[in-house]
Amino acid sequence: MGDNKLETILECMHLNKDQLKSVKDRLHIEMMKGLGKASHANARVKMYPTYVRSTPDGTERGDFLALDLGGSNFRVLYIKIGEKVEQFSEVYKLTKELMEGTGEKLFDYIAECLANFIGKQGLKDRALPLGFTFSFPCQQKGLASATLTMWTKGFKASGVEGKDVCVLLYEAVKRRGDILLDVIAVVNDTTGTLMSCAHAFPDCVVGLILGTGTNACYIEKLENVETWDGDTDPPKQVLINMEWGAFGDDGVLDDLRTEYDESIDKKTHNVGKQKFEKMISGMYLGELVRQILVKLAENHVLFDGKTTEALRNSWKFETANLSQIEGDTSPDYKVCRKLMKDHGLEITDQGCKIVKAVCAAVSSRAAQLAAAGIAAVACQVGKSDVTCGVDGSLYRKHPRFHDIMTATIKQLAPGVNVKFVLSEDGSGKGAALVAAVAHTLKSKTKA
Ligand code: BGC
Ligand code: MG
Repeated sequence: MGDNKLETILECMHLNKDQLKSVKDRLHIEMMKGLGKASHANARVKMYPTYVRSTPDGTERGDFLALDLGGSNFRVLYIKIGEKVEQFSEVYKLTKELMEGTGEKLFDYIAECLANFIGKQGLKDRALPLGFTFSFPCQQKGLASATLTMWTKGFKASGVEGKDVCVLLYEAVKRRGDILLDVIAVVNDTTGTLMSCAHAFPDCVVGLILGTGTNACYIEKLENVETWDGDTDPPKQVLINMEWGAFGDDGVLDDLRTEYDESIDKKTHNVGKQKFEKMISGMYLGELVRQILVKLAENHVLFDGKTTEALRNSWKFETANLSQIEGDTSPDYKVCRKLMKDHGLEITDQGCKIVKAVCAAVSSRAAQLAAAGIAAVACQVGKSDVTCGVDGSLYRKHPRFHDIMTATIKQLAPGVNVKFVLSEDGSGKGAALVAAVAHTLKSKTKA
């Protein structure tokens, strides 16, 4: 009886092979819309050209700074690229007030952290070339110009959407007047991830982030990028920041979305936006699980029908908890029992088994959807071997994400061999590498 109800409630999270194949096909259609000149304006998956022309060839040298904004922390890095790459970094807390206040305060804080870091590292009077990893959807007009289209992942600082974040950074630095700034590139974290990975694996042509948010980028032939309006000496290939998180924002995934997806969306700052991301990424999976647990309690499948204030509290169940519960193989479900206790709930072994099944259903769906996305990208790339650099806390910490993705891609793109390679700090080192490649090109052209 209990089991049947459980199955009925979890049924909506289950996607079969045909549905996943269809997700892959639908994304491919959206990708073409994003790249097409006439269709771009109405496309939801924006497929932004990034002005990154080539991946590193190993000859890049120099000292660089990098900023990394886009998750729960803000980082400043000092990166020395030589035979080896050496880096020094500092993490600075980002409060909710900063994420939700005025853009001016946010950028003043970024400039303050940068000044603090430069001081500590003894770099005060060197204007080192800087790569700014800004992991939000941006329209770029050049390598060092990026206009924020809209905030995602819980950010909503006012007066930033529609502005060039590079300009905002220069203004903040000018307000302080005590440091030098030379922004060479604004980079998305997917781009940084691909660059950092390509440094070690030259055949890496896709970058993927599975963290607080999700997104992918890949190298596309220029002839397929109708929206390219860059220079007159165009490169043969362009790195495309897909912004696939917005896939489904026009309703094309609505038949697969559940009441839980619907209800999460309503609780966010960006209602109706980033629908694909909200089914996949770390910011949302814990909340999906929590909602299903409440539903199961209400149906007397769990906790003897009891819920607690803690369990009814939105966003209090974290995606890291999912990874911990699923990763726990102890016969008495230690991790799950402890977590439920923290939520004021007593639970039986049978109950723990159910909680684990809920976590598995939510994370499997997420991994399968991400895999459908990568399958679409891999087919577009059109090679039999595709290496994909990947980063993000969800991918790193979840015990089964990688395996589920790999198995699903085998089903959806049987002709392609996709290999995932963990990227080494794409948002830090990657941004420095983009700056380095641009810097090297510049000096080569001058010479
Ligand atoms: C942003 C992307 C970013 C991704 C992963 C999304 O919310 O729109 O630009 O790459 O999160 O950080
Ligand atoms: Mg990051």
